Order: sequence, then C-alpha cells, then structure tokens
Amino acid sequence: MNIVLMGLPGAGKGTQADKIVEKYDIPHISTGDMFRAAIKDGTELGLKAKSFMDQGALVPDEVTIGIVRERLSKADCEDGFLLDGFPRTVPQAEALESLLADIGKRIEHVVNIKVDQDELIARLTGRWICKVCGTAYHTVFNPPQVAGVCDKDGGELYQREDDKPDTVKNRLEVNMEQTQPLLDFYGSKGVLENINGQQDIQKVFADIDALLKGDRG
Ligand SMILES: [Zn+2]
Repeated sequence: MNIVLMGLPGAGKGTQADKIVEKYDIPHISTGDMFRAAIKDGTELGLKAKSFMDQGALVPDEVTIGIVRERLSKADCEDGFLLDGFPRTVPQAEALESLLADIGKRIEHVVNIKVDQDELIARLTGRWICKVCGTAYHTVFNPPQVAGVCDKDGGELYQREDDKPDTVKNRLEVNMEQTQPLLDFYGSKGVLENINGQQDIQKVFADIDALLKGDRG
C-alpha cells in the first residue's frame, strides 16, 4: 500500500502517521529522515544534499528526487510505504510519479487530513511554557490549574515567538498556498481522499483505516 499523507501543521499528521505505519507495517518515510539516512550512509546523493544544507541552501529537486528514488527502491518498501513531507510541489509530484513508474509502483492513496484554519490556530497557539522549569502547557489539551501560572513552581508562563497567533497564521497561510496546487493535482488524478481531522484521534484513524482497507476488497 503506497500512501502519501498530507495535512497542515496542527492537523495531527504525525500522530496518524505513527498509527498507519504500525497497523499496516510499512515504513514511515519523511523527508528529514531520508536526508539524515543518506548523509549518514555517505551516499553520493547524501553528500550532495549535505553540501547544500551546510551552505544553508535549498536542496535542488534533482538531488531530493534521487534520494527518494533510492529510498523507495529499498526492500522494506516492497509492500508499501507512507510518504510524509514529500512531495511538496507539483513538479516533485510529477517526478515521483515517473520514478515510481520506473520501479513498477504507483501512489494508491493520497490522504489529506483536513482541519479548519480557526481550529488549527487554536491548536498551534495554545502552547505556554514555564519561565522557571520549562514545563510546557496547552490551553486546550493540557491547561495549567491557574491560567498563566506553572502548577509545579508558580512560575510565569510565556509563549514562544513561533507559537504566537501572528506567526502561526502566517505559517499556515504560506503552507496553504504551497499545498493547494498539490491537492488540485492529486484531486485531478482521482487519488485524493479527504479525512475529517476535527474529531477524536481514534475516530480520525478509524476513518483512515476504513479508507485504506477499502482497496483490499
Ligand atoms: Zn515551572
């Protein structure tokens, strides 16, 4: 089962990825892990990628796609894989299609976990951290007993720059703009499947599971 998993920051993609790979016993392939492994193994492409990363430059598509090809050709991908964080653009999706065709595979499911922007903002801006001990709280999921105060030591809670509403909103908007063409691309191929991510974690997984089982007949 060859899957691409999509979802905006805060949609719960990481949690669902863990559940999918556990149940279906397929490797979870994220871009970061792929790069780290290629660099650690000292492959030609890995070293190339590293030279760009060391300069703080973007790794060019041809290098990234080469690394993806190497990874997806490995034996553990024989019964399927879960791609997470790749492809990011339509040209990458097209390159993925052609490299998969070369090795006799195709993407069967593009699972997109959908959550409203307001809900994503609530989830992503809820994190507050204690100035004294560094304990993290979440105003929705794990609130302190008294707002703004650490349960352990009474320390003042603060919000990191990354978690502030303006920063979060901006990050989401950039992400949405980048993702939409990819969703349109997979939509037009008939492989895009939207999952309601605004439900209990177990229910989200049950929906994904039902969808994935569907093609096993
Ligand atoms: Zn504290």
